[in-house]
Amino acid sequence: MSDEPTEYECPRCGRMTSEEYYGPCTECRTTLRMTITKDAEQVADVEYVPKMNVTPNAVATKD
Ligand SMILES: [Zn+2]
Repeated sequence: MSDEPTEYECPRCGRMTSEEYYGPCTECRTTLRMTITKDAEQVADVEYVPKMNVTPNAVATKD
């Protein structure tokens, strides 16, 4: 086994890259990190409201 970086195609942008672990290249990781942070905030915000409304209603309707 060697701990040299493996060369592979970035699964996101398709460019050849070599990282210690398989995954998006450094550039994509930077972009993804910013995107994920934004999405996480949006998802958390979006999911929070429906859960409060939907769950009690769904239970009440089924009964
Ligand atoms: Zn990439």
